[in-house]
Amino acid sequence: MKSKIAIIAHGGAGGINYPHRRRSGLIKAVQAGYEILRQGGTSLDAVEKSATILEDITIFNAGTGSYFNLSGDVEMDASVMTSDLMFGAVGVIRDVKNPIRVARLVMERTDHLLLCGENAITFGRLMGMEYHNPKTKEKKRIWKRKKKKCTSTYFKKISELVDLYGTIGAVAIDQHGLISVATSSGGINLRLPGRVGDTPVIGAGTYADKNGGVSATGHGEEIMRHLLAFRAVTLMGKTTIKRAGERVMRYATKNSCKCGIIGINKNAEMLCLNNTKAMSWCYIRNGKLSVF
Ligand code: ASP
Repeated sequence: MKSKIAIIAHGGAGGINYPHRRRSGLIKAVQAGYEILRQGGTSLDAVEKSATILEDITIFNAGTGSYFNLSGDVEMDASVMTSDLMFGAVGVIRDVKNPIRVARLVMERTDHLLLCGENAITFGRLMGMEYHNPKTKEKKRIWKRKKKKCTSTYFKKISELVDLYGTIGAVAIDQHGLISVATSSGGINLRLPGRVGDTPVIGAGTYADKNGGVSATGHGEEIMRHLLAFRAVTLMGKTTIKRAGERVMRYATKNSCKCGIIGINKNAEMLCLNNTKAMSWCYIRNGKLSVF
């Protein structure tokens, strides 16, 4: 029996800058992903396509346009997961255009789940990923401005300086009922070099199983501490998607976890919730596009 197809993508939670460019980027990304689903393609191909489009749009905090760390470098995280529990991720990867592609290659071409740092880059190069500089002038300007406010090298209150979480993510279900999730992030502005966020940690920024799939964005340390994506997907198996979403967000807020989540369950129903100032997202279900 054919399942309903659907796709949802987000462009991060927090304050929203460039609302029009965000909107058009998200629309382009979900339309490209939905086209793959409509032609009978897999949800994995769909979320990879949507995520690469968003990684290439510089207003988002992923791929080109990622935030800089404390030393002014770009180190990116990305992961993919499918509802049959396949998972692949990269952490603190530099100088590649699309970290999400490398994450998928980790999943499909290695025995491992997560590759980090220099060795993730080496693996990417072996798989044909060329050198690419993801630093943009605009993110450098933001970095310079924020760094002035940063009083010590080992800054302990990064979250107080961070009001934008522009990580991107996509979740889709295909005609065979396979659910896939992709999340890609440039991390948090001014983080310590070598910091790994929630994005490549299974169950934190990304999770999928037979009940559904979720991509999270927000303050990575708190998302990791509470395994937010796993928590939300597990609840999807126990109650309606609406209640699952409400319960997980109540839990996050109670535990001071600033975040947003998008998800799809096995019936192709969707959720998108946040407890931050704003969150940008877009979905297509039953052929109908909705943008927020
Ligand atoms: N969750 C990401 C991180 O902490 C940031 C974001 O969502 O923009 O690395």
